[in-house]
Amino acid sequence: MKNSVRVRFAPSPTGPLHIGGLRTALYNYLFAKKHNGTFVLRIEDTDQSRYVEGAEQYIKDALDWCGLTIDEGPNKPGDFSPYKQSERQHIYKEYAKKLIDSGHAYYAFDSAEDLDKLRKERESKGETFTYNSQNRTHLNNSLNLSDDECQKRLDEGQPYVVRFKMPMAKQLLISDIIRGNIQVRTDALDDKILFKSDGLPTYHFSNIVDDHLMKITHVIRGEEWLPSLALHILLYDALGWNAPEFAHLPLILKPNGKGKLSKRDGEKHGFPVFPLKWKDPKTGQISAGYREDYYLPEAVVNMLALLGWNDSSDQEIFSLNELVDKFDLTRVHKAGAKFDPEKTQWFQHQYIQKVDEETLANQFQKWLKIEKGIDSKIEYLRQVVGLLKERITFVPDFWEEGYYFFEAPQEFNPKASKKAWKDDTSEIISNVKTLVSKQDNFSKQHLQSTIKNWIQSQEIGFGKVMQPLRLSLVGDMKGPDVFEIIALLGKDEFIKRLEFAQNTLK
Ligand code: GLU
Repeated sequence: MKNSVRVRFAPSPTGPLHIGGLRTALYNYLFAKKHNGTFVLRIEDTDQSRYVEGAEQYIKDALDWCGLTIDEGPNKPGDFSPYKQSERQHIYKEYAKKLIDSGHAYYAFDSAEDLDKLRKERESKGETFTYNSQNRTHLNNSLNLSDDECQKRLDEGQPYVVRFKMPMAKQLLISDIIRGNIQVRTDALDDKILFKSDGLPTYHFSNIVDDHLMKITHVIRGEEWLPSLALHILLYDALGWNAPEFAHLPLILKPNGKGKLSKRDGEKHGFPVFPLKWKDPKTGQISAGYREDYYLPEAVVNMLALLGWNDSSDQEIFSLNELVDKFDLTRVHKAGAKFDPEKTQWFQHQYIQKVDEETLANQFQKWLKIEKGIDSKIEYLRQVVGLLKERITFVPDFWEEGYYFFEAPQEFNPKASKKAWKDDTSEIISNVKTLVSKQDNFSKQHLQSTIKNWIQSQEIGFGKVMQPLRLSLVGDMKGPDVFEIIALLGKDEFIKRLEFAQNTLK
């Protein structure tokens, strides 16, 4: 049985979902699951001018990728359908009318030009113009018109907006689960527009109507909405509704802590700030995504969970289920959380180590085919993956760390060559070549003991043999155990590479 806890993630489809938005979704999900409640996705698309093609699908794909399964939403109808505000337009008017009738809102006929003029006049005096309790008494609105005159204008179809009549000089005490009690004076607030001249509600209005109708119990959202909280509470009050509880999440900050993490920070420092790759439908500009940059969703989820929350222990690795179990909204920090790109990679490294070799081999096989046009057998890849796994963080790192398993070196690191290839090296290599070509057992263990015994019998330094061997096979002084490399490459390839090195480095 579901508990009465109902939360919603309510993004506006105005572009790709920023990781800050994804964290909001995650915290909502965790809170819902923790309390055996319901996680709702509501698309807030009443501002048609900001609507971006593809953004809604992007949001759904990002949630899916992270495993944040919704209980109700546009593709998952529940008792409160529809879940897209553009499909709920018929609902809002009635509530606006209710507010007007009860004296909590009013019609305003001021044209954009009139208001602009007033704004400029005030600005020229170094003041700012606000549509508020001080000004509304001499502006073009229903508070200053007779009922008949107002009705006449409405009947004539004069453009109007509906504004909230902000109470005068009231002291509000509002509370937030994360921030505690907050005092707000209403004279600092303006008469916000609830309904626009295009007949659509604004965010503030549709948001609270829907939260009420959808029986939302907890509103968990970004800190940028904290300044709107007083208005929202007053709206609930004016409509005679109980307000849900609120929790405003801290910002995700730039790595240096100076300001909000932006798309530009990601571009500048080369890390994604979006879960999935995004192509702007207007400009064609591409923004990087964690998924396409080979991150595992579990790593991204874990990293985001700890960006603003911890469970008071030192534990850093949490599965989604564990997060559900441990998550506590009251332990979310007030202060902004610095984004740490290195730590994000650390999480990825931890998570990729948990992935089995078969899966990694399959992924790398696809990568090799697409990126390098190389067809490689899965058994071979499984062995390469096994050898290199500990060194890698992303699937393409297998190439970075082990390209020589797929193509013979064409050149040799000059510094390493100078160090490893001496006058007598070619002769040593010839002898190793002869020795190895006689072996039928090509296991790592056998090769290791055979070559080591031979080195001892020749009374030459180990490095004098192993370094040029590595250089010949890899082209550089890197890689795992040389005997492992020989065993994997096989006899023919081994001989070919040694000969090429001898010819090139002589
Ligand atoms: N549509 C708002 C946004 O995209 C939702 C804010 C809220 O959760 O109330 O941020």
